[in-house]
Amino acid sequence: DNASNDIEDVYFYQTGEDEAYLERLEIVDELKQALAEDDGQLFMTYQPKLNMRTGLVDKVESLIRWKRNNGDWVSPELFIDLAEQSGLIVDLTQWVLRTVISQISMWSAQGLTMKAAINVSAQDIADAEFIPHLQSMLSAYSVPANLITIELTERDMIENEEKGIAALIALKEIGVHISLDDYGVGQTSLGRLKMLPIDELKLDKVFILKLAGSHQDQCIVRSTISLGHQLGFSVVAEGVEDVESLKILEEMKCDYAQGYYLSRPLKADDFTQWLGQHHKAV
Ligand code: C2E
Ligand code: MG
Ligand code: MG
Ligand code: MG
Repeated sequence: DNASNDIEDVYFYQTGEDEAYLERLEIVDELKQALAEDDGQLFMTYQPKLNMRTGLVDKVESLIRWKRNNGDWVSPELFIDLAEQSGLIVDLTQWVLRTVISQISMWSAQGLTMKAAINVSAQDIADAEFIPHLQSMLSAYSVPANLITIELTERDMIENEEKGIAALIALKEIGVHISLDDYGVGQTSLGRLKMLPIDELKLDKVFILKLAGSHQDQCIVRSTISLGHQLGFSVVAEGVEDVESLKILEEMKCDYAQGYYLSRPLKADDFTQWLGQHHKAV
């Protein structure tokens, strides 16, 4: 009858919630362990960014990957979110900074000057230890600050606005570049955009994925590139999946292009091999 069905529904609903909750706790726990042990479950991949003015790949975006010991992949969208909720993000970002900065110094030892973008969260920027930690990593590996771009989404930048902007200014003062990631799908008004101490606008991939076939996307992208340039920013397009879109971006004077058409994110050694094969080294 109806009454018992209702009870069953509620029961299953709660079980589902509890399981999801436990699963999340378990993932956070495993992530904490993976960070502490650094046994290869967590690793960095690098996606080439094409400098459209020079035609060379002189920059990568670092994108973290996690393959659990049981063989399961966990998507960064999921575990970065959990790391943010649990506060583990600060430790994770330290791991990311050390990994990427040491990789840049290894490339440099091979004669390859490569810039790298690093994704961070609002909590990192709010953490008083973030800049000192970044600086000590840069000096430990003798990597110049201007090889690093810090990518933050709009949501991350505007969390606690005044303090946030002060932190970004302090970050810029040490010589790293700042990029506004996923631009165009968030909350940044034009008035706020004007205030942000950024160097780069990174157009969200929703405007780029179908660029070649969409008049509307072309209008949005063209005017955003123009706006960005007039405000003094470099403009990057992520999610370039076909040659037609790349050509359109080139014609629109977009500064950098990134996407599967060029390459998926690659492990460091695969990236250097890719670079050799494509003659896009600086
Ligand atoms: P994001 O920073 O906006 O990174 C771009 C995402 O688009 C990446 O997803 C990348 O693999 C994907 N992508 C690149 N080219 C294409 C393309 O042509 N087509 C499509 N459909 N997708 C493309 P990924 O690696 O799954 O990362 C997702 C998000 O997770 C990132 O978005 C970033 O917010 C976060 N994330 C990744 N690595 C890190 C990290 O080391 N630290 C932090 N804090 N966040 C990270
Ligand atoms: Mg990014
Ligand atoms: Mg993005
Ligand atoms: Mg994103």
